[in-house]
Amino acid sequence: MTPTTIDTPVIIVGAGPAGVGTSIYLSMAGIPHVIIEKETFPRDKVCGDAISGKSAHVLRKANPQWLQEVYQQPEHFTPSRGIIFVAPNGKPLRIPYGDPLREGELAPGFTSPRLVFDDFLFRKINRQYATIFEGATLKTIDKKPNEVSVCFEKEGTEYVVKAPVIVACDGDKSWVRKKIINDDAAEKAYSVGLRAYYQGVTGLDEKGYIELHFLPEVLPGYFWIFPLPNGRANVGVGILSSVLRKKKINLREQMLRAIEQNPTISHRFANARLENKIQGWGLPMGMKRESLSGDNYLLCGDAARLIDPFSGEGIGNALYSGMLAGEALARCAPQQDFSAARLKQEYDDILYRRLGDELRISATLQRLCRFPWLFNMVVNKAEKSPSLSNMISSMFTDLDLREQLRKPSFYAKILLNR
Ligand SMILES: Cc1cc2nc3c(=O)[nH]c(=O)nc-3n(C[C@H](O)[C@H](O)[C@H](O)COP(=O)(O)OP(=O)(O)OC[C@H]3O[C@@H](n4cnc5c(N)ncnc54)[C@H](O)[C@@H]3O)c2cc1C
Repeated sequence: MTPTTIDTPVIIVGAGPAGVGTSIYLSMAGIPHVIIEKETFPRDKVCGDAISGKSAHVLRKANPQWLQEVYQQPEHFTPSRGIIFVAPNGKPLRIPYGDPLREGELAPGFTSPRLVFDDFLFRKINRQYATIFEGATLKTIDKKPNEVSVCFEKEGTEYVVKAPVIVACDGDKSWVRKKIINDDAAEKAYSVGLRAYYQGVTGLDEKGYIELHFLPEVLPGYFWIFPLPNGRANVGVGILSSVLRKKKINLREQMLRAIEQNPTISHRFANARLENKIQGWGLPMGMKRESLSGDNYLLCGDAARLIDPFSGEGIGNALYSGMLAGEALARCAPQQDFSAARLKQEYDDILYRRLGDELRISATLQRLCRFPWLFNMVVNKAEKSPSLSNMISSMFTDLDLREQLRKPSFYAKILLNR
């Protein structure tokens, strides 16, 4: 059988937030492209379903109307105005995202099941520029100087797509990454997470605050409860794979034990109902700077290992890296220069200039979380000190301020009440 051959300026593999982000920004630059996706939308993705202000920024920049659409559909999206951190000693600390909202101002973030949110994103792809193949099975990838060709099968037909550049947006077990740079993502900085949907959890925050419970048994990870539309909650737990292996933890048992026995959690699940099975997935984290591109390829989102090591946020970084990839390719297109040197300059360097500090600070915070007493101390003091509480809140929007968290002097001052 002779395969159908397609030539295109850009190939994107994967249509999650990273792939859609790339596609939207390529379309804004008028660049045609082919998207190859193995699933058919709407499709689920195991996740906490918390979508931050960074995602909102990428959407607003592409089209301000899209965010309005989000907030006009309360049955699908729940606005979120902050985070409740629960310290290992059980004490909560409410941290709003930045300043209190003014009348009519939209909440900075929201929650939405990925089944819904990713489909919402998928529908924003501009079909004038994007040719989409859903339900496609990748077979081979061949990289020659200045040309990448991908062979896939869809409904019994074989296709070969050729382009001068490919963008890997195919998630944490990226097939493209493995084939092109042949490294082993699983052995690097990795966390694993479990997610379950519950109906009837009580005490969910009225303002949509998401809850992170830093239970001593899963540090430096956490147990979460995120309110969703229609009285549902996304409940889960994430932990470093190395800790899981070292302590031989059964994560599912740990999660159910917290739900059944933890004094700050269990009473809220007294009448709650698990909707379907508990599912797991990996979180490749951005602990240190890595190469995100090379001759004729770019990596985005989880394929680039960009999940925030402290918060576990990956949707925002996936959309954001997709946006930067689309913009970078638009700058490289006039000269058709997709060399490693040019892509590093146009993509890696810009991405790390914008996200590098944040990832670095979060990597330190994740390491500090190994010390429950430190966490307890900060929350104990912040509970009594509105100025410390405000300062921690401002850290969400002010990176210079967040940098303070990396310094031992910050904790010394709190300890000494200064
Ligand atoms: C338990 C858990 C909880 C999390 N909670 C949060 C949270 O609350 N907030 C947050 O911001 N982040 C969270 N994350 C991280 C977030 O889910 C990811 O960072 C995000 O989905 C990354 O987006 P992506 O587009 O890079 O990859 P994905 O969303 O995984 O999308 C990849 C796409 O590529 C497709 N694909 C895969 N392989 C192929 C192939 N061979 N051929 C073609 N297509 C392919 C997939 O079908 C998929 O559509 C969580 C992760 C986990 C595991």
